[in-house]
Amino acid sequence: MLDDDQRYPIRVTDLKQWAYCPRVFYYQHCLPHVRPTTYKMEAGVAAGKSEVGREERRSLRVYGITQGEREFDVPVCSENLGLRGEVDMVITVAGGEVIPVDYKLSKIAGPHFQMQLCAYGMMLEDMRGISIQRGFLYSIPLRSSESIKFDQRLRQKAHKAIQVMQRVIVHETMPAPVKNLSKCVTCEFRRFCNDVV
Ligand code: SF4
Repeated sequence: MLDDDQRYPIRVTDLKQWAYCPRVFYYQHCLPHVRPTTYKMEAGVAAGKSEVGREERRSLRVYGITQGEREFDVPVCSENLGLRGEVDMVITVAGGEVIPVDYKLSKIAGPHFQMQLCAYGMMLEDMRGISIQRGFLYSIPLRSSESIKFDQRLRQKAHKAIQVMQRVIVHETMPAPVKNLSKCVTCEFRRFCNDVV
């Protein structure tokens, strides 16, 4: 019988790492014994957890919604996508629309965050048998939300990234380094990238 690591080998947070540098994903999955737990990872998880308490006291108006039910830390997975994760919050709006929300320490809703949010939406669609059209990225420092539409372009981008990531895991092929080498300066894995650093 397959365990969760085999059934859902990719975590949604991996999509963000993949967009930042595919090699980070490779190190985490193909050389897991060298994987450092970074300050950024710990800070992100802690910030997300503490945001739940504030969210419970907050009005849904920050999302432009007047009425809805909130679920927190919702586990999601999809065998179709080979993907699993945990959504910070899911809002079910009066009327039935379901909207995933991801809390971020960033002030910018960058493309990697959008792809990650879309993947949460696709997994919720698989699990609940519904169509999900959008999600919210909530910036903790700005205390504001941005609505992200799950259009075909974003869905295809997420699908394509997942397929390539699956191939990296199966064949253990190390991807090329990032083009923008300034990212390597603060990278936790730079000691393994002797060809660029
Ligand atoms: S050092 Fe650079 S190329 Fe290597 S994993 Fe980090 S960001 Fe990617």
